[in-house]
Amino acid sequence: MVTRAIISFDTELSAGLYQRGFDARANFESSILGRCRDGDFGIGFQMDMLERHGLTGVFFVDPMPALVYGPAVIDAIVRPIVDRGHEVQVHIHTEWLAFARFNPVGRLTGRNIGDFPLAAQKKLISLARDILVGAGAPRPTAFRAGNFGANDDTLHALAALGFRFDSSFNGAYQGHGCDISLDPGNLGMRTHHGVCEVPVSGLMDRASRFRPAQLCAMSEEEMRDALDHSATAGAIQFSAFSHSFELLSRDRAVPNRLAIARMEALCRTVADDARVTSGGFATLPGPPPRPGRITIAAPKPLRTLRRSVEQAVGHVAHEVRYVRDLIYVTVHSSRWGKAIGGVLLVLA
Ligand SMILES: [Zn+2]
Repeated sequence: MVTRAIISFDTELSAGLYQRGFDARANFESSILGRCRDGDFGIGFQMDMLERHGLTGVFFVDPMPALVYGPAVIDAIVRPIVDRGHEVQVHIHTEWLAFARFNPVGRLTGRNIGDFPLAAQKKLISLARDILVGAGAPRPTAFRAGNFGANDDTLHALAALGFRFDSSFNGAYQGHGCDISLDPGNLGMRTHHGVCEVPVSGLMDRASRFRPAQLCAMSEEEMRDALDHSATAGAIQFSAFSHSFELLSRDRAVPNRLAIARMEALCRTVADDARVTSGGFATLPGPPPRPGRITIAAPKPLRTLRRSVEQAVGHVAHEVRYVRDLIYVTVHSSRWGKAIGGVLLVLA
């Protein structure tokens, strides 16, 4: 049994930046291209890295901003992904409905797709798929709810619309927006309400805490252990995820070197492990008639501690850089600044 590593990126414009006055272009540059003063670290950079390792990625694209900005910006997101041979699937952030010029479900709004009645969920997901197809994507077969905010009705809606896969089940979000009634202790693919659920992989980082296989949440060591556990168990899939903007620092001002190193390590591990292939949902086989249970790797306290230390060091490095930049700006902004900055630099 070969395990399919599905490396996915939730690819989305920021409703927060929209509210702060960003137009489509500025939002696209920050959220999708991952543009900061050191260069671009968004989906183009991510595809470059995947391709260097011979891997194919999945981009869950949120088309809802089309209701606010118009469809051209979604075309600009979808085209390069399709052209480069990676997969486009449906992501949805219903937060955008609050700002939409036209609301396809009347007056209904909500943070998560699971907040809507079944008929409205069907309408929204169908519209989302149509926008992506209109932008040039092959007909999507997989779905992931924004904020993992899906419920069982979402799966009913997907089944009725002919979707084969859902990837909205994330044990870390269960009870915090994710209301799909599945056992979070089983990471195996299985059919639920007519669709095949492909849960987000992960491991236990404490006795009762699930840590999802998200790029910025897991150390290289944890990601490797989680993947190894799935491959050893003969799992059909291992599902790791990130975002289009996740290789930037939290304030999006500079690249996040730790996250970039982690992505590089994940790509290398997948490429080097003979038990693992990379790819998306288009060619993913469904679950066997009686799917086995895939357990979650047990916690290792020292491993958890090592990640905490690594993240703390990364955070401090970012702050140190911030202070250094502040000195630089001060030095170059005025004569007094130059004097003060010069003293600071000498002291430093
Ligand atoms: Zn999202």
